[in-house]
Amino acid sequence: MPMASSSLGRLTVITGPSGVGKGTLVGRLLERHPEIWLSISATTRSPRSGETDGVHYVFLTRSDFEQQIEAGGFLEWAEFAGNLYGTPRRPVEDRLQAGRPVLLEIELEGARQVRQSFPSAYQLFIEPPSLAVLEQRIRGRGTDSEEAIARRLARAHTELAAVHEFDASLVNDDLASALAALETHMGLAAPATAKPEATRAPRQ
Ligand code: ADP
Ligand code: 5GP
Repeated sequence: MPMASSSLGRLTVITGPSGVGKGTLVGRLLERHPEIWLSISATTRSPRSGETDGVHYVFLTRSDFEQQIEAGGFLEWAEFAGNLYGTPRRPVEDRLQAGRPVLLEIELEGARQVRQSFPSAYQLFIEPPSLAVLEQRIRGRGTDSEEAIARRLARAHTELAAVHEFDASLVNDDLASALAALETHMGLAAPATAKPEATRAPRQ
């Protein structure tokens, strides 16, 4: 028998250009709200230093990723800056069925797909204070090659032009203020004391 929709967990999608601080914000959010479950995406991108398979991403070969697409294993998937990224379907559906709030941190094409398959999902866009600050952050992170930086910055223009498609947006300027705005948008009360444990390590 299908579960009453009121017992389903809420799905939230966070999107924004690479380097805007999504991973940083989500990491802080999970520390403060460990009830939220963050989906672990699959990708064909190579692991960055410090990234662990099954923790930050599930790292797949392109042919394994394509097999998963064929098998209908992804809730959504997209190509971004030359690599494939996708949300494994089953773990998300299981958590939602169990009533857990679920968070996806994904790029624009994936967010558009989720809008079709989960119209009730809440879609939030994170903006940088400026393109110059965005570039500083990508470079400051120190994880991407010049080519990858150029592709990500080019893609940022397309993503920023789509901000109006989202239910809400916030600017990640001061981190603490952006985190507070994120909590407000998600309808989360700030916890009395921050909880130390995250359910999963944030992306790098
Ligand atoms: P994304 O996940 O969107 O690609 P990251 O979370 O990796 O972005 O952040 C990119 C860089 O910007 C990191 O070095 C991070 O420490 C830094 N950063 C994130 N948010 C802020 C902020 N509010 N102010 C200054 N630096 C930030
Ligand atoms: P990065 O390589 O910097 O970790 O991620 C690049 C982009 O891919 C980011 O915008 C990130 O949000 C997005 N991304 C990560 N996982 C997924 C996913 O499962 N699906 C989609 N569509 N995008 C993803």
